[in-house]
Amino acid sequence: MASPNVTQKKSVLNTGAEIPLIGLGTWQSKSGEAVVSALRAGYRHIDTAAAYGNEAEIGQAIKESGVPRQDIFLTTKLGIKWHTRVPEAIAASLQALQTDYVDLYLMHWPCAVDPDDSTKVVPDWDYVKTWMEMQKLPATGMVRAIGVSNFGITHLERLLADASVKIVPAVNQIELHPNHPSPKLVAYNTAKGIHTTGYSCLGSIDSPLYRNPTIIELAQQKGRSVQQVLLKWGLQKGWSVIPKSANPERIQANFALDGWELAPGEMKTIDDIPTRFKIFQGGFLPPVMHGKIFLGDDE
Ligand code: NDP
Repeated sequence: MASPNVTQKKSVLNTGAEIPLIGLGTWQSKSGEAVVSALRAGYRHIDTAAAYGNEAEIGQAIKESGVPRQDIFLTTKLGIKWHTRVPEAIAASLQALQTDYVDLYLMHWPCAVDPDDSTKVVPDWDYVKTWMEMQKLPATGMVRAIGVSNFGITHLERLLADASVKIVPAVNQIELHPNHPSPKLVAYNTAKGIHTTGYSCLGSIDSPLYRNPTIIELAQQKGRSVQQVLLKWGLQKGWSVIPKSANPERIQANFALDGWELAPGEMKTIDDIPTRFKIFQGGFLPPVMHGKIFLGDDE
């Protein structure tokens, strides 16, 4: 059964805006060339973050691509050292990106780190206060939607229960691949009207998924690459995917997802892979936050 034009498909966010289901990830992409390649290949969704240090290159690349800004869904993220300075943070991101607005502004982590000492958290502050600041942004026109990243069920429950919270996050961007499928968290997001975006869908750098015999065999049977099968699995699970590549051929190959799909039995073969691991453990966050970010409530 063919699945036409998945590359053109979008999900409707709780704001009414649409997010293209396939985006380009840019963590560790230092030049803007990947963005130009992706936009020319047809991608219309770019994911970056202040912490990636590449917003200026991405802004320049968007200009160079010739693709009109309004045709692109652009996401950036509030860095952990900026939770108490949201207006300054978004202004700096917009200036670097050479744009008047982003389509989506995510709180990168539910953790406010002392700007002067990254081993400490900001005292008397937490992510609910950050969200109160972020809630002011849509009215300014600087952001079209606000969302979160690396939030577990416990974080979301607390956020949504707080009387000050008027805006439900549009998106929760979380690590998702066959070794970390987080079905409870994805279901929770969906139940609350929060769109799920998967990051590290390919298994990130030096991915062990590329050596997984089950996925290799399935890819060979399908006549597709392992990466294409991993992305297709994520899309058919119902989340958007943001594969990163800095290589023009791989950027194109990761977008060649139209006209085929994984049958239910093939999806189950991947679902049944028993290995579990998480790439991002939050080890770079202040020690007091270890054990407070990933709470294991997403199994
Ligand atoms: P991915 O799972 O997208 O994997 C990227 C790696 O796979 C790179 O080493 C890339 O190398 C390689 N690769 C990509 N395509 C192919 C291919 N077709 N064949 C072989 N190798 C390939 O990892 P990321 O961790 O980068 O996650 C994706 C994006 O998600 C990030 O870039 C970022 O935008 C976002 N993210 C968000 C986080 C958050 O906290 N919210 C955390 C982590 C990521 P090459 O470039 O050489 O092709």
